[in-house]
Amino acid sequence: MGYKVAPGYCNACGESVALHQERPNHLFHLLLTVITGLWAVVWFVLSIKNTPWRCAKCESADTTFRVPAGDRSRATQVSPLR
Ligand SMILES: [Zn+2]
Repeated sequence: MGYKVAPGYCNACGESVALHQERPNHLFHLLLTVITGLWAVVWFVLSIKNTPWRCAKCESADTTFRVPAGDRSRATQVSPLR
């Protein structure tokens, strides 16, 4: 799995944090599709699955992209976790 990272706000932490969302590793799935053919079905299902954005600090899904005014300077950016 790959990750998308974006700045946001975590309601559990109560602060601006980096949010991350798991995304399929398309290169990996392309390789398996070429080898097996049928893997395209799994790839399609994983691609349309809507995984939640999670807080990079506490993994809570209770997040929003809307950063409260006055809290923007504390937004952090982190590299993908895994
Ligand atoms: Zn959090």
